[in-house]
Amino acid sequence: MRDYRIPFNKPALLGNEFSYIKEAIVRGKISGDGHFTKLCQDLLRREVGGGAVLLATSCTHALEMAALLLEIQPGDEVILPSFTFVSTANAFLLRGARPVFIDSRQDTLNADETQLERLITPKTKAIVVVHYAGVGCEMQHIMEIASRHGIPVVEDNAHGLFGKYRGRPLGSFGAMATQSFHETKNISCGEGGALVLNDPALLHRAEILREKGTNRSAFFRGQVDKYTWVDVGSSYVPSDCLAAFLCAQLQEAPTIQRARRLIWDRYRAGLTDWAAENGVRLPIIPADCDQSYHMFYMLLPTLEDRQALIDHLGRRGILAVFHYVPLHLSPMGMKLGGKAGDCPVAESISDRLIRLPLYFDLSEQDQEQVIEALREFRPGGYTSLFNLHHALAAETVTQPVKR
Ligand SMILES: *Cc1c(COP(=O)(O)O)cnc(C)c1O
Repeated sequence: MRDYRIPFNKPALLGNEFSYIKEAIVRGKISGDGHFTKLCQDLLRREVGGGAVLLATSCTHALEMAALLLEIQPGDEVILPSFTFVSTANAFLLRGARPVFIDSRQDTLNADETQLERLITPKTKAIVVVHYAGVGCEMQHIMEIASRHGIPVVEDNAHGLFGKYRGRPLGSFGAMATQSFHETKNISCGEGGALVLNDPALLHRAEILREKGTNRSAFFRGQVDKYTWVDVGSSYVPSDCLAAFLCAQLQEAPTIQRARRLIWDRYRAGLTDWAAENGVRLPIIPADCDQSYHMFYMLLPTLEDRQALIDHLGRRGILAVFHYVPLHLSPMGMKLGGKAGDCPVAESISDRLIRLPLYFDLSEQDQEQVIEALREFRPGGYTSLFNLHHALAAETVTQPVKR
């Protein structure tokens, strides 16, 4: 693989990662649910608004636990965005559910809640939302529809830790929320995740599913005198070594978030006039959302412009990347019946979206070079009337769509 002078992502190191891992080893308990796991769960509980938190081996696994807890059965339907990561769908597909894809809003690229109600059928057993780039979905509306139909909501909050919607933390709205600590996320331990349980009735069974279908968690708390097989389950408990790494990051979350915010703001300040002149759309953050500074993306006028820009930056040693292929158009999604035109907004943004380097220790000088390289670039699509039409369409949404 080509070496980039300015990569897309670089894991953050805040300083205590090594000493905490050493401490976990010295404490003599490097399996799960040790000292650092509890510290992480407490920190996360405070951050996400009070629901019980169970550390997990990944966000994917936390989503699998959510599907098990909701007792998703073959033939059930689960509504989820097409513009998301595969795990959002797979967790439910593994239980035999049929994913029903919802299209995206033009402004935040989140699930378009105005289309939600017409996708609900008697078979709908869950609604999964993703706060894309850590900008909140229209949760007021979504929760109203969901509760009217008695359907539980799961927030795939992989991007959204520290984000807020109308002053309330993302991850605190649904019956459950899932977090990711993959290397590419704001807070990381390489591979890791968490399940947030906002419905307290789910905690008891969640502990059992996570511990191989046993009541080992209750045993460790001294609530039962031996532990045994009581339910289905799997192994979703991460090692306390990983929790130690994660704890070092969570304790420094304000430092990480401050740095990411500065970088995000510099991108916007440095690119606003260039973007307006060239039909490039920058992220839209509605006034009632505090974003998590997970990502800085842009929408180019056309697919060709997006590829030309990735090449242009690549020649300058800068790695910028595209993002999700709409799930309904992936090979698996098409096997499930997806076809072009099902989610036109997701299809369009997927073709035109580019993500810029954004990581904790991206220096101001390096970022300046990224911004300069971008400002040299002119989308070439204006040469034909066809492309001009697309460029103008791309420009039409500059304000949040009215909610
Ligand atoms: C990263 C991500 C996941 C998967 O997280 P893992 O911790 O790698 O399993 C799921 N959903 C979304 C939206 C993500 O961005």
